[in-house]
Amino acid sequence: MKIKEITTKSIITESKLPDADYVINPYVGCQHACIYCYADFMKRFTGHSSDTWGEFVDVKINSANTIRLTSFNGKTILIGSVTDPYQQTELKYGNTKGILKNLLVSQPNIEILTKSSSILRDIDLLIQFKNLRVGISLNTLDQKLSNMMEPYASSPQSRINVIKQLSEAGIESYLFISPIFPYVTNFKDLLEETIPYTRNFSFENLNIRSNNRAKILEFINQVLPEYFGFYANLNSQSCYWQSLKSEIELYCKNKDLKYRIYFDHSTDKKK
Ligand code: SF4
Repeated sequence: MKIKEITTKSIITESKLPDADYVINPYVGCQHACIYCYADFMKRFTGHSSDTWGEFVDVKINSANTIRLTSFNGKTILIGSVTDPYQQTELKYGNTKGILKNLLVSQPNIEILTKSSSILRDIDLLIQFKNLRVGISLNTLDQKLSNMMEPYASSPQSRINVIKQLSEAGIESYLFISPIFPYVTNFKDLLEETIPYTRNFSFENLNIRSNNRAKILEFINQVLPEYFGFYANLNSQSCYWQSLKSEIELYCKNKDLKYRIYFDHSTDKKK
């Protein structure tokens, strides 16, 4: 793992994502090295074109100090759009923690996305925000499959436990079932495992792009070779996604769950 300390002029950038006005990424790169990650487009803009995604992290060591006392007027900041803010390096550098501490005074709406149980370290800080939500991403309860897809993220059971502990601390959280791998991800099992701790769920389909295609197809070839052809043409399987969307809607409505479905890019090439 190549770890480099860098400085940044500003850690907050405006966002075009549907649920965030701003994004903060305390690191460049991500040690979780998920095979389906499409954030590796960041390599082009950060001097890492020849590096392998998952094998480098740039630590924006001055990031917390770039936070200005600003009124965010009800705007939402997403922490972790192209990196995991609680990846292993966070335990050494504490960038995310420092940023959160410096945002406390201005109290923006905060949304954190992570696959790491390290977020539990910061519960005492998180509870001091008036509007804060944590999304825990998970797409299988199967440890072996998770190891293959997300080799350095926390285990599925640890992530469920994060939602439990956040819930017990009174912190709003939701399970982000993402990315949904057809015939691998069992959304009902994931919901049932988590419903005791949250009633909020988001769903995102798998998006195959040129940069993650080879790894995903290699994975499918190992675990579900009979679906190799289906996956090879996944971005044109709109009937599958439409049918799954209807199934999710029905299931969530019957259980009176809050849910959001982000299937919009089932046929396009964006994150
Ligand atoms: S945790 Fe997110 S940013 Fe990190 S490798 Fe996995 S998908 Fe990419």
